Amino acid sequence: MASKLYNELYAFDPGIADAFKKATNDNPNVVINEKGVDLVFDSVIKDRKITENEAKALTHLIAFAKFNNFALTALIASLKVAYDADLFFAGTAKRLSSAAELADVQGAINAVGNVDFWSPGSSSSYKPQDYLPIKELVKSGEITVYELKAAGFNRSLSLYGQYRSDLNRLVIFSGLGPDELVNIVVHEATHAIQDQRDLDSKMIKHTEADAFIAGAVANRTLKQQAFKGYEPFDTAYKAADLVIKGKAKPGDTDWNKAYESVVAEIKGAAYPNPNGKFKTKEDGEGDKEKKRYDDLMNALTSKSKP
Ligand SMILES: [Zn+2]
Repeated sequence: MASKLYNELYAFDPGIADAFKKATNDNPNVVINEKGVDLVFDSVIKDRKITENEAKALTHLIAFAKFNNFALTALIASLKVAYDADLFFAGTAKRLSSAAELADVQGAINAVGNVDFWSPGSSSSYKPQDYLPIKELVKSGEITVYELKAAGFNRSLSLYGQYRSDLNRLVIFSGLGPDELVNIVVHEATHAIQDQRDLDSKMIKHTEADAFIAGAVANRTLKQQAFKGYEPFDTAYKAADLVIKGKAKPGDTDWNKAYESVVAEIKGAAYPNPNGKFKTKEDGEGDKEKKRYDDLMNALTSKSKP
């Protein structure tokens, strides 16, 4: 007779259930080692996509099976690589394109009313109106928006959203709370601004710090605090207070210090290469994106003048 855990896993995904069985001889008390983790991972990626049911099975497996620490860390790292290779996208992406489908994302971007700061890291400034062209590009489909469904497993990988500058693609995981959605959408929209502005020479730790701070300012504006207890969110939330108070200007000592503490948190597994360059230009792009952004900005801001 199969174990209870096997049957539960099987209901989500037979492949992962069988990998568990092979790795443990179907004994939930057997500690899964690196070899067992390879069986699980191979089953997950063999069709080059990760489905929502596979994500559910992985959550269940990690919660109820036993792993040695090294094996579990290796599994998480491998799944992050699979995410970077777009396997979650291949398995679950749903395009959001109608105004109704995009309402939550566009609504989240509306929370940028206080995003007004000078970044000492990327030497650029962010203002509420900078987000207007991004909303237009989302509306027109020049920036595509997708929802990924990982049944919360993305949280185990610290993944919530992504903006890919090579594809002009914004991705949001389903299941985010309203405060998390605002934080992540504004974060990714800030990367979209950086992309359209061609901030190529900037370091990842600076473009990320800017995005984390923008997300936190939007949260503060709505009296929210998302991802409390997690870095870099907490440090960005502190720095965002200075933005709201109008102190995020060049030469302000407190602001520089607060900004640098956010930069110091851009590290670890999520950001293995903080000193790498933020890449914004796909091959053959030239100045096309920047020009489109500037044209939209001119059209939108002249329209709003009295
Ligand atoms: Zn980011």
